[in-house]
Amino acid sequence: MEPIKAYAGYSIKDNIRMSSSSGAVFSSLAEYVLERQGIIYGVKMSADCYSAEFTRVVDSAGLVKLRGSKYLQAKVGSTYKQVREDLEADKLVLFSGTGCQVNGLKFFLGKDYDKLLCVDVICHGVPSPALWKKYAQYQEQKAGGKLKGINFRCKDDSWTEFGMEEVLEAIQSAEQKKFYISKDKDSYMQMFLRDYCLRPSCYECVAKKIKMADLTIADFWGINDVAPEMNDGNGTSLILLRTDKGRKLFEAIRNGLKLKEVSYEAGVRSNPAEYKSCIRPPQRESFFDDMHGMSFEKLEKKYAETIKVPFKNRVKRKVKNMIKVTLRKLGGGQSA
Ligand SMILES: Cc1cc2nc3c(=O)[nH]c(=O)nc-3n(C[C@H](O)[C@H](O)[C@H](O)COP(=O)(O)OP(=O)(O)OC[C@H]3O[C@@H](n4cnc5c(N)ncnc54)[C@H](O)[C@@H]3O)c2cc1C
Ligand code: SF4
Repeated sequence: MEPIKAYAGYSIKDNIRMSSSSGAVFSSLAEYVLERQGIIYGVKMSADCYSAEFTRVVDSAGLVKLRGSKYLQAKVGSTYKQVREDLEADKLVLFSGTGCQVNGLKFFLGKDYDKLLCVDVICHGVPSPALWKKYAQYQEQKAGGKLKGINFRCKDDSWTEFGMEEVLEAIQSAEQKKFYISKDKDSYMQMFLRDYCLRPSCYECVAKKIKMADLTIADFWGINDVAPEMNDGNGTSLILLRTDKGRKLFEAIRNGLKLKEVSYEAGVRSNPAEYKSCIRPPQRESFFDDMHGMSFEKLEKKYAETIKVPFKNRVKRKVKNMIKVTLRKLGGGQSA
């Protein structure tokens, strides 16, 4: 079913946008709900950084760990039960997840609640958590340290040319170092983007046909063909309003966003994950067999030969980034 309305948009709070994957619309929604003593459910990385999991957040400080896409399947645990307890206690709840997680919650609850708001993301698919753990341990072994933080969508190069930012702490000295790996060079991102490591249901995603969220948020891929004036390189979201409840929530936060209404067709033209599942590659079976039997080093040699970025482009990217960072520092950016 087509949404009621579609928008290109982003938060006017620059610093929050820089730590979000696209236009920080999720944070705007969450802040609004928190201001009304509501509860937010979303996904954070676990303390050891080996997995992703749902968590319950009650204040702005807690939102920091929810920001940004975690490209692996998140553990749901007892989240649906906790959501029901909050709703039964008459609390306002914003649940944020993939389409299948929103549908799962709705089936679990079995009835409508006026105070439940659901936002999902356009979803390409989720990689296997076992692969993530193997990759994380390999990165630790190479660096001789412990993974302390991860940003799958670091915008230092740009929103579209994103990379992984990993914080590793040395075992001996406890000194922390940040590493940046462009998505074209990172083997985990390459396995994800080549669709080798997705969960079986992602190749036949039912949630693309049965949409139960009130709003959907996504990256506005193809923005330059639709509304180039909405692309300043720091991340633009596509916002789809699916229900009247979603429309009302959006109306309540719209003053904090820079917006342009677009047609649904234009909004999703470069984002096929909205309406179709990705194709299961022929290598998927052997990939999973090898994942269980091979070291990560061998796995990446076999499945993730990285894209060679020409030297000229790398220099261009670096210079562009340095200019952007300097301009951002001079401008100061709006604070939260
Ligand atoms: C696995 C995955 C696949 C995606 N595929 C696409 C795609 O194909 N096309 C597209 O346009 N956008 C995709 N997105 C969405 C996009 O990356 C942004 O998350 C979205 O645009 C919201 O960005 P934001 O800046 O508003 O907020 P952000 O702060 O970046 O969004 C964070 C929100 O995402 C949720 N989240 C993070 N990781 C997970 C996870 N593993 N499982 C469930 N929820 C999670 C958090 O709970 C939080 O609510 C995907 C996101 C994920 C997590
Ligand atoms: S692609 Fe579909 S099944 Fe896979 S995680 Fe996303 S919503 Fe769920």
